[in-house]
Order: sequence, then C-alpha cells, then structure tokens
Amino acid sequence: MERERKISLTTKIFIALIIGVIVGLVLHPLKNNPYVEKYLLNFVFTFLGNGFVRAIRMVVVPLVLCSLVMGAAGIEDVTKLGRIGAKTLIFYLSTTAIAVVLALVGGNIINPGKGVNISDIATTVVSVDKTKPFVDILLDMIPINPIEALAKGDMLQIIVFSIILGIAMSLLGEKANEAKKLFEAGNNISLKLVEIIMLFAPLGVFGLIAKTFTTLGYIALVPLFKYFMGVVVILFIHCLVTYQSILVLFGKYNPIKFFKNFAPTMLVAFSTASSSACLPSSLKTMQENFGVSKAISSFTIPLGNTINMDGTAVMQGVATIFIAQIYGIDLTMGNYITIILTATLASIGTAGVPGVGVIMLGMVLVQVGLPLEGIGLVMGIDRFVDMFRTTVNVTGDAVCTLVIAKSEKENIK
Ligand code: ASP
Repeated sequence: MERERKISLTTKIFIALIIGVIVGLVLHPLKNNPYVEKYLLNFVFTFLGNGFVRAIRMVVVPLVLCSLVMGAAGIEDVTKLGRIGAKTLIFYLSTTAIAVVLALVGGNIINPGKGVNISDIATTVVSVDKTKPFVDILLDMIPINPIEALAKGDMLQIIVFSIILGIAMSLLGEKANEAKKLFEAGNNISLKLVEIIMLFAPLGVFGLIAKTFTTLGYIALVPLFKYFMGVVVILFIHCLVTYQSILVLFGKYNPIKFFKNFAPTMLVAFSTASSSACLPSSLKTMQENFGVSKAISSFTIPLGNTINMDGTAVMQGVATIFIAQIYGIDLTMGNYITIILTATLASIGTAGVPGVGVIMLGMVLVQVGLPLEGIGLVMGIDRFVDMFRTTVNVTGDAVCTLVIAKSEKENIK
C-alpha cells in the first residue's frame, strides 16, 4: 500500500513563513552584497512574493463583482439586504471605534513615546494629501462609469454598483435568469482560480517574508520596539477580547474552533499584509469552513475588506500618541475625540494593500495638529506592524460575518 503523508496547506504556508524568517535573518548582514541584492532580493524573493500577490489580486475584481451581484440577486427579499446591510455597517463602525478607544487607553498606559530619543531616529518627511471633505468621500462611492470602476479596481464603487445590479436582477425575477446563471458561473470560476493560485501560497509567503527580513533585519526594530509592542499588544487584546466576546455573546461560537477554521486566511493576511490579497481566501474560508451562505458572506466580506480596518485604526491611535509624546505635545480631551473620529474614517478610506494605513495616518495627524514628520518615524518598521494589523483587519470581517449569519439563523459549521 502506498503511504502518502499529506501536509495541509496551512502547515506548508507556516513552514514557508519560518524558513523565510531564517533565510532573511541569515542574509540580512549580506543585503548590500551585489549578488544577494541582484539575484535574491530583487529577483527571486521579489518574483515569488510579488508574483503571488499579483496573481491573487488578479481574481479580486471578478470575484467581488460576481459574488456580490449573486449575493444581492440571491436575496429575494430586498429588505433583507437592507437589514443585513444595516447590521453589518453598525458592527463595522462600532468595532472600529472600540479599536481606536482601546488604542488610546492602551497607548497612554504603555507610553510608547516617553524616553525615546528622537535624535537617534532618522526622519523622513512624507507629504500627505489634505483630508477630503466628507461629502466627497460619500460621492466618490457612486461610480459615474462602472466599467472604469472595474478597470481601476475601485472597491467601494464596485461594491455599490454590484449591489444595485444584484437588486435590479432580483426585482426582475424570471426575466434576469440568464444573467444570474452567468454571474453564478463567473463566481464558481473565480473560486476555482483562487484554489489554483493558493497552491502557490507557500512559495509566495516564503518570498515575501524572506525579503522583509533580509531588508530590515533586527536593527530596524530596536528604537521603535515599544511602539511596536504597544500596537501588537492592543491588536491582540482587540482580537482576543473584543472579537471573541462578541463572537461568544452574539454568535454563540467557540473561539478556539473559530481560530482553527480561520487560521489559513490569517496566515495569508500576516504574510501579505494586504486585506485585498486575502479577500478570495476569506470568502472561501467563510463559505467552506464555516458554511456561511454566499448571500451573506459575499456581502459582508468584500465590504469589510474595504471599510472595516480595526487593526489599522489601532495602529493609527497608538502612533498618534507615540508621535505626540515623542514631540512632547500634550493631547486634550477634544484631541482624543478628533482622533477617534478621524482614525475611524481614515481606516475606512485605507485601501487593503500594504503600507497604506501609515499614509492615512497623516489625515489623523493633520486633524489633531501634530507634526507630519512623525510618519517618518513609524514608517521604518511599518511592514512588521502591517502584518499584525492586517491580520486583525481580516479577522474582524470574519467575526462580523459569523455574527450576522447567526443572527439570520443560518446553520454554521
Ligand atoms: N495593509 C493593510 C490592509 O491591507 C492596510 C494598512 O496599511 O493598514 O489591511
């Protein structure tokens, strides 16, 4: 009898992550070696890592379009989408606000910026766009040309268009049957593509991790260790306390089972630092591992992926305190309220790709009147922070999806 030992994809991804860290740390002292730089950093690691992220992003637009149209069209009773929509929005906004409050309280306990010598840290000035008027943020969500929105990959516009299209199909009933079949097939094909691309996840993860560790090594972490630890601790609290209490209280779901089922997606989030790259995996996990219906998951996951960024909000809260402390500026109660509001909005506007959250931090700093140069301080180690916050970003979407599915009386595995 042939003995075949099957290693699960999660294990393979995890092993790739560990090997990536080891290889990166070994190569770090040699990172300026022309051969290491040319052949490993800029070729092998870049090709494997970025190739994987590109491949996975390739399926994002078709998948979101097809799955959201199917989701909205599948909900016969349009008011049901309205109810699910309202519940989802309330969940996303309130958990993000909780995340910022936690960050501000935690930041004041940890005091990440006290005792850090600013002159030891090289600063780079980053130019950040001024805050957009709120009305423009709302208007920008309505696509004037849906094809352009699809071509540009503007997620909020695609979400709005897909939902309206799905509702129209649902209202047309029988007459739209052919179109429904087409989108259903598109959805299945997109999920198949995800499956094929995920076979390459271990290679992609290795490339991304090895590149990060070869470039940054340990040294970059030293001066900002406290800030980094502060963000990570609060992210853990948000993920383990806030989310799990919500999951137990409102979803009646076992947290250990949750993490077991959701681990593959969390690992993709951690290594890619991109919610968008995680979208296909999140959708697949929710539908297959948890048994959440397409009608709910194809609405909550892409929406959460775009607007629900609790991890990013935590980083922005702690970073604001860190920057205020490092420049010796005392924050008032009014400042704290401004931070809660702007960090919530900034995280909504953050695209699910690596490193955008730290640029959006500029929106918070300008609003509070803190020096923008502060962004340069946290940027050096942002890739590490990004891995953790992105994991929380996608976990929040999954918890919301489960809670909503339970509240709609779905049978969850
Ligand atoms: N990388 C984060 C994400 O994709 C966004 C951020 O930079 O905070 O979720």
